Amino acid sequence: MYNLNKAMEQQKVLEIVKNLPKLKYKPVPTRENEIRTVCPFCEAKGHTPDREIKLYINISPNRILYHCYRCGTSGSIQISNTQETQTLKQISTLLSSTPPTPKINKLSKEIGKQLTKQAIQYLQTRRVPARIWDKQHWLEGNTQYKGHIIIPIYEYGREVAFVTRDYTGKAKIKSLFPFPNKASLLYNFDYAKDFTEIILVEGVFDSVRYENSMALFGKVLYPMQAYKLSKYIKATDIVICLDSPMKDTNITPFVNNIAKILKEYTDKTIWICTLPYGDPADYDTNSFYEILSKNSKKVY
Ligand SMILES: [Zn+2]
Repeated sequence: MYNLNKAMEQQKVLEIVKNLPKLKYKPVPTRENEIRTVCPFCEAKGHTPDREIKLYINISPNRILYHCYRCGTSGSIQISNTQETQTLKQISTLLSSTPPTPKINKLSKEIGKQLTKQAIQYLQTRRVPARIWDKQHWLEGNTQYKGHIIIPIYEYGREVAFVTRDYTGKAKIKSLFPFPNKASLLYNFDYAKDFTEIILVEGVFDSVRYENSMALFGKVLYPMQAYKLSKYIKATDIVICLDSPMKDTNITPFVNNIAKILKEYTDKTIWICTLPYGDPADYDTNSFYEILSKNSKKVY
């Protein structure tokens, strides 16, 4: 039966904590530094294996508390080793309820001014709702960003980056990322994170009319984006909806890859929706959602 002594039990808990980023666990919503995961002791104590993630672990840099609501295993571990304290500090940062804020060099308002009439006309032809550019403080670039619309990206109300879009057709680059953190960005994160279902699309202009969508800035999902989608959004379902294969090249490998990466990071239900033509920006809101409900296939 139960043949673990206390020291072995603590060793096991410590191992779980150190491997947390790789394990299946859930944050405890009201406790920032607490998680619940599969209890390895239930079986050893004569219960059936735990499938309900009943082991609660509370982590701070200097001590770990643990308690299983199934088999009753319970204890605390004091950490005095500096290196371990450092590791636990990193892990408890990972567990916090908001993502670490990226370091940014510049804010959009440092390179932008109010949108001109010409820029607004462009946004209207792209069918960007006025409430979006107004609420999100889209700007027009000055000096080296002349001819660009500056689109700030927010996380928890804070601007974490901005992207720019040339609206004159004269600039050589379509989009600029002034910060080297494209790999962690999701446009519309703040607005979509509380929906029960979210849609992943390619670009900002695909996302603006669909409140529960987030844009990836391309056809690739980076691990940091997947991590954010697994940890910081409420959705139970994620729909991947890239531009139609009619518009682009073969999108299948891209879509499959995004689904596979998501699967590694989250146990949310993952769907793929293939558009009959164009990109999400080409549809009106009602027909887009109609296609979404008709064409989405569950993959994981
Ligand atoms: Zn247990």
